[in-house]
Amino acid sequence: MTAFRLARSGVRVLLVDKAAFPRVKVCGSCLNARALRELKNAGLGHLTVIEKALRLETFTWMRGGRRLRIPLSAEVGLSRERLDQRLVLEACSAGAEFWDNASATVETAEAGAIFPRKSSSTDGCIRVHVQTPQKNFVLETEMAVIAGGLQGGILKNVPENIRVEKNSYLGAGTLLHNGTAAYPAGTLFMATASQGYCGLVRLEDGRLNMAAAFSAQALSHEKRIPAVIAGILREAGADIPEGLEHAAWKGTPKLSRYCRNPAGRRYFALGDAAGYIEPFTGEGIYWALAQARLLTDLMKPHAFRWHESLADEWKKIHSAFLCQETRTCRAVTPLLRSSFWSAQTFALFERFPRLAAWTARRLNGAVRFIDGSA
Ligand SMILES: Cc1cc2nc3c(=O)[nH]c(=O)nc-3n(C[C@H](O)[C@H](O)[C@H](O)COP(=O)(O)OP(=O)(O)OC[C@H]3O[C@@H](n4cnc5c(N)ncnc54)[C@H](O)[C@@H]3O)c2cc1C
Repeated sequence: MTAFRLARSGVRVLLVDKAAFPRVKVCGSCLNARALRELKNAGLGHLTVIEKALRLETFTWMRGGRRLRIPLSAEVGLSRERLDQRLVLEACSAGAEFWDNASATVETAEAGAIFPRKSSSTDGCIRVHVQTPQKNFVLETEMAVIAGGLQGGILKNVPENIRVEKNSYLGAGTLLHNGTAAYPAGTLFMATASQGYCGLVRLEDGRLNMAAAFSAQALSHEKRIPAVIAGILREAGADIPEGLEHAAWKGTPKLSRYCRNPAGRRYFALGDAAGYIEPFTGEGIYWALAQARLLTDLMKPHAFRWHESLADEWKKIHSAFLCQETRTCRAVTPLLRSSFWSAQTFALFERFPRLAAWTARRLNGAVRFIDGSA
């Protein structure tokens, strides 16, 4: 999205991704109302229609053998292969150049800041090392935007930049070709249990997307990801989809993390690369899309040229954004981890379905939407 927005503003952009595209990504693959609004405001509202995203009508919470159905209002499911590939195509149509299979490392000036240099040939640019199967390159560019997700390691000489929360859950996901008829299209199913949770959603091509977050203890106890997921589903009283055991599961590092320095001389980090909180509320895509907007808006008055004030300004904007936008997610996560509070919330929502529906709309960012004011 950042590449798209910058290229559309006339900036010369090279977008590199270390994966071969289209690529699979561990994700619940649900776009909430805020994410859809970001796409629309960027002029990409047609994207979910072209890619045949499925509208999600219901959120079904499965817990301790019981089920609670909560209506959804403005959420869609779309595979990350299609969503991300389409974003890349839009960036290229706007003028960006794209290399996939290209792994990047950014050489920051921060190490130099310890022994400040008076001037050097790299003062007017930042170096990016790009490794492709054919050749390695060292590119010198005016600015670099780091959007490498949870994998980290992109900033070459700032090793301590990410602080991972000790008790953070791990993530994992897979795509099943059949699964089971128990998970029809149009519903976002969420199984919650003592050691984690798992979301299941039917995608535009009929595959069942499974994405889970669970404790490191659960993994060390069960040894294998499918066993952990089966345990979560069993405890929640949810059907275990066919093929779960032998599916290709992809894991993530610990999820909740904080970035000490989301910007420095000539570089900016955003999206998961600049901090993340567990995915229960399914907002990460929105956070990443919104940060792309905020960063390009910040660069605009400087005609998209580097300016010494930009790094500090981005740190402030980024921190204010996270503080405001991740508040609900930070409040809900501990609630879900406690069996007592999770049971209380379930019972409350069972008793007051309108409260449940309002909460879902609020989490989804659809309250304003529904009121017709957005
Ligand atoms: C289990 C789970 C479920 C989730 N469910 C949802 C959901 O339903 N809805 C939602 O909105 N969010 C969800 N999220 C969060 C969402 O997936 C992320 O927040 C979002 O994808 C962040 O986007 P990003 O662009 O920052 O990173 P990513 O989407 O991870 O993209 C990073 C890209 O950088 C590339 N890369 C990495 N290192 C390098 C390198 N050195 N050089 C070049 N390229 C590199 C990767 O190949 C990747 O393509 C979920 C997350 C998890 C873990």
